[in-house]
Amino acid sequence: MFKGIGASAGIAFCTVCLIKPEKIEFETKSVKTPTIEKDRVQTALQKFTEDTAHLVENVRANASDAEAAILESHILIASDPEITGNINEAIESEGLTAEAAIDNVLEMFKNIFASMDDELLSQRASDLVDIKERLLRILTGSNAASVSDLTHDAILVIHDLTPSDTGQMNKALVKGIITEVGGYTSHSAIISRAMEIPAVLGVDNALNLLNDGDVVLMNGATGEITVNPSAEEIERANTLLAGQLQEKKELEAYIGKPSVTADNIQVELVANIGSAKDLESVLKNDAEGIGLFRTEFLFMDRTTAPSEEEQFLVYKEVAETMQNKPVIIRTLDIGGDKEVPYLHLEKEDNPFLGYRAIRLCLDQKDIFKIQIRAILRASAFGHIKIMIPMISTVTELRAAKAFIDDVKAELKGEGVAYNAAIEVGIMVETPAAVAIADILAAESSFFSIGTNDLTQYTMAVDRGNKKVAYLYSTFDPAVIRNIETVIRAAKKEGIMVGMCGEAASDPLLLPFLLAAGLDEFSMTAVNILKTRRLLANYTVSQLKEKLATILSLKTTDEVVAFLSSL
Ligand code: PEP
Ligand code: MG
Repeated sequence: MFKGIGASAGIAFCTVCLIKPEKIEFETKSVKTPTIEKDRVQTALQKFTEDTAHLVENVRANASDAEAAILESHILIASDPEITGNINEAIESEGLTAEAAIDNVLEMFKNIFASMDDELLSQRASDLVDIKERLLRILTGSNAASVSDLTHDAILVIHDLTPSDTGQMNKALVKGIITEVGGYTSHSAIISRAMEIPAVLGVDNALNLLNDGDVVLMNGATGEITVNPSAEEIERANTLLAGQLQEKKELEAYIGKPSVTADNIQVELVANIGSAKDLESVLKNDAEGIGLFRTEFLFMDRTTAPSEEEQFLVYKEVAETMQNKPVIIRTLDIGGDKEVPYLHLEKEDNPFLGYRAIRLCLDQKDIFKIQIRAILRASAFGHIKIMIPMISTVTELRAAKAFIDDVKAELKGEGVAYNAAIEVGIMVETPAAVAIADILAAESSFFSIGTNDLTQYTMAVDRGNKKVAYLYSTFDPAVIRNIETVIRAAKKEGIMVGMCGEAASDPLLLPFLLAAGLDEFSMTAVNILKTRRLLANYTVSQLKEKLATILSLKTTDEVVAFLSSL
């Protein structure tokens, strides 16, 4: 048995399928006639078209129309006469193999597109890389498994799971996910939880430790992975599995029920999402809206930024699917430690204290403008709100709001529809924002407390550093007091206050958040029904009497012990 980080709860018992990174090798100069090489190109294009048409259907059924449309466009790009003409020309005049000609020509077109000012066209560069690699795989007969060609139930073992992988995989077949990198708050963890697939991450060397076809038992809660489990181990897992299924059944009784406490105080239970694909779980778990759409996921694992149209289609799809329930779209929170190579960000000594989120957006206004235009256009199709991350000063908030007003004026001038009264709120996740919460509340439509970052910044503890992990706790009196300060400031100003960090679904924190008066709890959709069930255990009027005591506690242990007793 070996162990990784339990990142998405659940038991999986299945054979594994290894997705190994591959380097595609081929000859450059052909020993065959140009006619033979040109025929090879033609045959590869035919297969590419058939495979892609299949993939389009798959993505449409499992993911979203916007992603299916992108894949569909790949068929047109690959067979564009300008491109095929150049490939044939390279074969004839330079004596290249079909592979080398495709490699050269598609690389050339990629570079041309990447350097274009028109962002719609520059976005095409990443599509060309995708098309090139798939064509080369067809030509070289490379049979390295890719996420999209899974045909049977399996536990995927992969170096890292990217958002583009999830777009291509058939979720129904993926019983579990094991990755070599990533932790509880990494993207692969958030994606796995959103898809409700058990996941164990950060398993060093997993692609060498496991072999294709190994039978594996994995526990996404404890992070345990057992190869060829004994009958006894299987029985124990089956008991756990039966318990989980039973729990799931019991929770279904809470679908369609109001989110109320024992004394009938209503709160909002909404979902965190990273893409339109997460909507399935959002609907299944009866979320009352979207409390956090992490839009940076749309910008990662690609070679150029998503275009206005691409972003608009995704935001519109989310707004329409939620049918007028609130959808809070957070503007780009990227930079610092988040890798987006095409933004060419400088390496920083203190990335978490550096150039990220609203700081980056107010500096790189071209990127910000495309996103705000896309969000505003989508706001005509549902109940969209805008949320600004990493606010430290009221000046930043004013600059962001002024920028949004300018973009509104531009759209108005173009006669484009948008919601003129769109709400603009902020994430409260820096101690600076807590200290001036009263000032910010007067100029924000709503607050959402980002405890993942607020804990890190309040305690001055890097959440990735194991040596100081003991300090990273939402239950620390400093964090508890900060949360209460923010809620009180919002209440005084009469604005909605929510929480979208992982702590929003922590059952132990719930009585404190109810006592302090939190309005909205935003979490991975799979935790919503559990939280709804828990609400019935609490009477807010009684909890409020305990608030002063909670705020007077001196240590994390005291807070944990007291909240456990409520
Ligand atoms: C947070 O900081 O709590 C939060 C929700 O934002 P992220 O985890 O995306 O930084
Ligand atoms: Mg944050």
